[in-house]
Amino acid sequence: MRSIAIVGASLAGTRAAETLRRDGFDGAITIIGDEPHQPYDRPPLSKQVLAGEWQPDRILLSDGAALGDLDVGWRLGHRAVGLDVATRTVTLDSGSPVTADGILIATGARCRELPTGGLDGIHTLRGLDDCLAIRAELEATPRRVVVVGAGFIGAEVAATARGRGLEVTVVEALPVPLGRVLGPEIGTVCAEVHRDHGVDLRLGVGVDGFEGHGRVERVNLGDGTSVDADVVVVGIGVIPNTGWLEGSGLELNDGVVCDETCLAAPGIAAAGDVARWPNRLFGETMRVEHWDNAIEQGQQAVRRLLTADGKAQPYAPVPWFWSDQYDRKIQLAGRVRPDDEVRIVTGSTTERRFAALYGRAGRLVGVLGFNRPRHVMKYRQLVARGAGFEEALAVAAREG
Ligand SMILES: Cc1cc2nc3c(=O)[nH]c(=O)nc-3n(C[C@H](O)[C@H](O)[C@H](O)COP(=O)(O)OP(=O)(O)OC[C@H]3O[C@@H](n4cnc5c(N)ncnc54)[C@H](O)[C@@H]3O)c2cc1C
Repeated sequence: MRSIAIVGASLAGTRAAETLRRDGFDGAITIIGDEPHQPYDRPPLSKQVLAGEWQPDRILLSDGAALGDLDVGWRLGHRAVGLDVATRTVTLDSGSPVTADGILIATGARCRELPTGGLDGIHTLRGLDDCLAIRAELEATPRRVVVVGAGFIGAEVAATARGRGLEVTVVEALPVPLGRVLGPEIGTVCAEVHRDHGVDLRLGVGVDGFEGHGRVERVNLGDGTSVDADVVVVGIGVIPNTGWLEGSGLELNDGVVCDETCLAAPGIAAAGDVARWPNRLFGETMRVEHWDNAIEQGQQAVRRLLTADGKAQPYAPVPWFWSDQYDRKIQLAGRVRPDDEVRIVTGSTTERRFAALYGRAGRLVGVLGFNRPRHVMKYRQLVARGAGFEEALAVAAREG
């Protein structure tokens, strides 16, 4: 293989290009990205950059010299609009084609939106430009912030806005934040953490619509009440960016469907938030929206392009992510469901510092830590080797 085109100037795509060069690949690499920016890291967008503590240059994935050393043909500010699978040709919005021996799809995901009625002041947060627009609004006073959705992004935006001394209301349709991911018990702890910090939580109620004159002034809720708002941030999940692949013949199903080695078709692989693949460690087909996975899968998928069929290893990681909210670092390793058995094995929920193990069908499937990073890493290894739940609980009883 003499040339590889990476679609998405993303975390997965950039780390994949670095991997290729580190591994000694000396063919042509092209990276196509629809954002005008050099590749950057997204986690600080809801944390340090939004808080005003970091400027955008601090989140670049590589400095200029390192990017130059990669010897990549950058096509930034160009959107891919089509893919010919047989010839491995990507068509750009300018009409020009990019043909390569191998293609890595790393186009990530975009935010779900709510109808805004054309009002200003209602945002979603995915990219740097979104972050800077929200930050500029948070810096104007007085500011009442309403966050719609108490998932990880919404929760982080709420925490950051509270850190800036703003009045924050969070509206969440579920009875507890993150209940669908972490289960009701841990979701309740998340709710308490926000209340501890003065967030007005409106749980179990959806948003009916927004009102205002040119700019949002009020958020109307499904129970007939309303919340005054100067700025609204909607964090209700993401949709994988696969629209440009429709009609290509690749299988699309809430992501680009790959085999267990991250291959979507001969010479075409996918990685990061956009990829769906069967993870044999969990016996489950998954799409993972975590920073750590984008890096690891980017590396695996691009190496897959250079590996002969039959010699490729399955990609079977233990997904892992973190979220920073106030002075808590929440980490989750594994694949948990709301109806899993949850056992707090160290610390306590009242002190908001604990580790919890998740078990299903006799197996340890995940570990969650609130300011317990060492425990998360320890039990993550047990998840990786398929340890039983009782075995993990015995380790906890012995070692804490
Ligand atoms: C605000 C925020 C905070 C986060 N915090 C955390 C955290 O604390 N912990 C954690 O584990 N994860 C976090 N994440 C998730 C993590 O950042 C993502 O999982 C990761 O960025 C995914 O990387 P990716 O390479 O798959 O795609 P992305 O980072 O989404 O990049 C995809 C790129 O492809 C571009 N693109 C899309 N379509 C096209 C097209 N047709 N043509 C060309 N280019 C295209 C996009 O514009 C984008 O630049 C956070 C995400 C956000 C948005």
